[in-house]
Amino acid sequence: MNREQPFTRRAFLYHGACLAALGAQSKPLLANLQIGAAAQITTLSDGNLSLPPEMVFGAMPQRELEELMTRYGADLIRYEPECNLALYRDGENTVLFDAGAGPDFMATSGKLVDSLDAIELSPDEITHVVFTHAHPDHIWGVLDDFDDPLFPNASHHFGRKEWDFWWNPATVDSIGADRAAFAVGAKRRMQVIEDKVEFFDDGQEILPGIAARASYGHTPGHMAFEIRNGSDVVMVVGDALGNPHVAFERPDWHSGTDQDPDTAAIARKSLLDQVSHEQMKIVGFHLPDGGFGQVEKTGSAYRFIGEPL
Ligand SMILES: [Zn+2]
Repeated sequence: MNREQPFTRRAFLYHGACLAALGAQSKPLLANLQIGAAAQITTLSDGNLSLPPEMVFGAMPQRELEELMTRYGADLIRYEPECNLALYRDGENTVLFDAGAGPDFMATSGKLVDSLDAIELSPDEITHVVFTHAHPDHIWGVLDDFDDPLFPNASHHFGRKEWDFWWNPATVDSIGADRAAFAVGAKRRMQVIEDKVEFFDDGQEILPGIAARASYGHTPGHMAFEIRNGSDVVMVVGDALGNPHVAFERPDWHSGTDQDPDTAAIARKSLLDQVSHEQMKIVGFHLPDGGFGQVEKTGSAYRFIGEPL
């Protein structure tokens, strides 16, 4: 039984093909940030997604949404968010946050290996893969074209709550028809990497200076990660902050990509409060121009201040 194909064809391939026809190209390497005296975070492009805007924004108040998007110079005709993986290197550890989409999800994504090539890093050299969550654009890339682990020398780190959700055989039937392929695809990959997985919980330090921070709702066990080195702090926010406009200005609005929209809205607000108050830099998987930035509190809302190269 392969329930990945119908999903891919129905919902995504069409959009990918359109984008390819338009000649869109993703940049292989995007941004670099020094953290502490001797470590750096680099974001690596995995390409981009092409999603039907109504899938993401359909549940939001449409007039206000249109006004907001216009102010940001965005539209509701195409939604093609970047996919940026964060890579942390301190000379000893080479830590990749998420694994990208791999070859089977969308024509526009799965470019991670090219991006690693561009910085002359082999998948063999990755020492740790740390997952924010198990959606296709974050975990399907953990296997290579032969369905073997792409990062053979890495330990793989999963939040226990997230793992348990996707591992549960009941999830495929309870998650809803439009997400059933996510469950099948995640489980198949998790079964291959099972022996390499180490689990962590909220607040736990995975490596010295890298701690998990619960941000549930986008998926049941979605995790952000706080990276500290010297006096520098960067929060890897994953998909808890999934776009640079609505998620910051109206964190309370329900996004169609969040599995539990109420819980995700609470997590978004809490994360925004923390990173703006503590003036942390953030790096977001789907935020633009490589995904680095800072967050400013503006009255009752927030603003993303990107740091493009
Ligand atoms: Zn994502």
